[in-house]
Amino acid sequence: MQAPVFDLGAHCRAIAAGVVLIAAASCAVSQTQEVELGAGAAAQVAAELPLIRDAAVVNYITTLGNQLARATDLRNLTWQFTVVNSKEVNAFALPGGWVYVNRGLIERATNMSQLAGVLAHEIGHITRRHSVEQMNQVQGANVGLALMCTLTKVCENGASQAAINIGGSALFAKFSRSDEAEADQEGVATTIKAGISPNGIPAMFRLLLSERQRNPNAVDAFFASHPLEERRIAATEGQIATFPARQLSRLTKDTPAFQTFRRRLLAMPPPPVPKAR
Ligand SMILES: [Zn+2]
Repeated sequence: MQAPVFDLGAHCRAIAAGVVLIAAASCAVSQTQEVELGAGAAAQVAAELPLIRDAAVVNYITTLGNQLARATDLRNLTWQFTVVNSKEVNAFALPGGWVYVNRGLIERATNMSQLAGVLAHEIGHITRRHSVEQMNQVQGANVGLALMCTLTKVCENGASQAAINIGGSALFAKFSRSDEAEADQEGVATTIKAGISPNGIPAMFRLLLSERQRNPNAVDAFFASHPLEERRIAATEGQIATFPARQLSRLTKDTPAFQTFRRRLLAMPPPPVPKAR
């Protein structure tokens, strides 16, 4: 997804959370500052978004996420992977190692490699420090609230929409096409390094495009923040084709653990309806 399907929009936008005033040029933000920004934003997300705390769900997403992050992270960040209890299809990343994926995206994925591709794309936004570019835009923003609006559409008709959009859309809609392309490239490379098939990335893109044709409402939050076009799919497939077929054929596409994880989410009560803001 261009912006993110992983940028899955907000998602992708590794959001530079505006918790700490960063007046310095974005390139001057240290790793310590980046982690502080992420931690502050993560606290806001925990306050505003319904997160799934079920131990089996937390354990699975943490294990898969760390398998991917360990394959690519050269900075030894502490990674945190979380499932958001939202039916909307989306995912996002915060600076410093926080990655979130909506329940609605996982339930639509048909195999493990599709979810892994989304996580690897988000990880790429963090490792390539795309979030740092956005830090100056989000000073003082309520990142948790902005994310809730971006990810769930709950603010669409609310009186506070205008105010939130200033913080929210500006915050989350600015990942550049080049950032998205870079995160896609990272996603392909990272899944392969982790022993997982990269074909889940274009497969997930196609799945979302076809769902948009059938049921636009279900995925519009995602497309609002992650421009997704055929050429993004073609670019990803072209990159995958540069790897030897024998190598690709040995990579893992699906696991029983993923299917158990997905069934567990599908069996849970419907996500809470967000309170209008
Ligand atoms: Zn992205």
